[in-house]
Amino acid sequence: MHLSDSISEIQTLLLDWFDINGRHWIPWKLNANGTLAKPGETISPYGIWIAEVMLQQTQLPVVLPYWQNWMRNFPTLNDLAKSEEKYILLQWQGLGYYSRAKRIFQSSKILIDLIGKNHIFDISSWPIEVSQWMLLPGVGRTTAGSIISSAFDLPAPILDGNVKRILSRLIASDEINMKAQQKLWELSLLLLSEERPRDFNQALMDLGNKVCTPNQPCCTSCPLQSFCVAYINYNPLNFPKKEMKKIISPQEIGIGLVFNKSGELLIDQRLENSSMGGMWEFPGGKKMPSESIEETIVRELKEEVGISVRVGIKLLSFEHAYTHKKFHFTAHLCEWTSGQPKPLASQQLLWVSPEKLVDFPFPAANAKIISELHKHLCNGKKNFKSTIINSY
Ligand code: SF4
Repeated sequence: MHLSDSISEIQTLLLDWFDINGRHWIPWKLNANGTLAKPGETISPYGIWIAEVMLQQTQLPVVLPYWQNWMRNFPTLNDLAKSEEKYILLQWQGLGYYSRAKRIFQSSKILIDLIGKNHIFDISSWPIEVSQWMLLPGVGRTTAGSIISSAFDLPAPILDGNVKRILSRLIASDEINMKAQQKLWELSLLLLSEERPRDFNQALMDLGNKVCTPNQPCCTSCPLQSFCVAYINYNPLNFPKKEMKKIISPQEIGIGLVFNKSGELLIDQRLENSSMGGMWEFPGGKKMPSESIEETIVRELKEEVGISVRVGIKLLSFEHAYTHKKFHFTAHLCEWTSGQPKPLASQQLLWVSPEKLVDFPFPAANAKIISELHKHLCNGKKNFKSTIINSY
């Protein structure tokens, strides 16, 4: 049996499953009264847009508290557009992929231009075309489709990780090229319910989250099992096909924690056009193959901030993984011996007391170092300076 012959049956089975098993509590999918929106009803696109960008690369349980905090701090598009980048990055701290926060900030101004300042509270003035949403930096077809279907209940297809997995299994797609991707987009559109596009897209995402999971699909309780070629003829775990990944050992990073005589720490702000641009960090960098980590710290601090240091005790070392890379960080306390700090590879440098570090947006890896520093301070080592001096 071909899927296109069974579209309405698939829609009914999936929507019936969703009505009973769907995640009906997701806060940005609720209407102004806090209840599940009915077919055809509109929901504020602002909160949905923020959630959809947060959900790129990040799981829903992680996003939830960030979204709630965001909506408290920037309840409307106007509040967001009037804010400052530093404050926005601070709210994003810990969520990773900080360029998303910067793009949201840029997009807030583009959206205001698109909608018109006086109309942003009128939902009918917001863009309803996929192509209009894709004008915003960082908004691709899936994000745009999800915003439009969720907010306006319009039939825009999506192809996020969950949907891709279900559709690949449904047709047992064994290709991994662009043509295969295009085929999945066509299938996502073909199956989409015209009557309940919001619920249908959400049903696919919920099925992928609860039933058709990556490693343990529960096919016996799946509403689509009688149409699923991977279940009927093959092993669903073999779909979607994946490209072979190379195993890469983590990159070693040396970090220097330099204190001045007042017990303040040296921090620098990353260049705007670099990854995590605008965020703050402790100076340091990549270890060369021939160096010890202490030599890396001495060299990096000379190159990055123009100072000479003597490397003292190790505060901590840990691994931190980003999507494509793994890093192994080692942070040492350092004694500043000569030279005046200069921002040779950053926007600016600051001396900040350890207690004030929380006022600056740091990437997650640096946040681990800050937490360790605070632990030392709280554990009775009130005069942290003496700890440092004793360490040499
Ligand atoms: Fe996924 Fe199994 Fe359902 Fe197929 S039958 S869609 S593999 S859960």
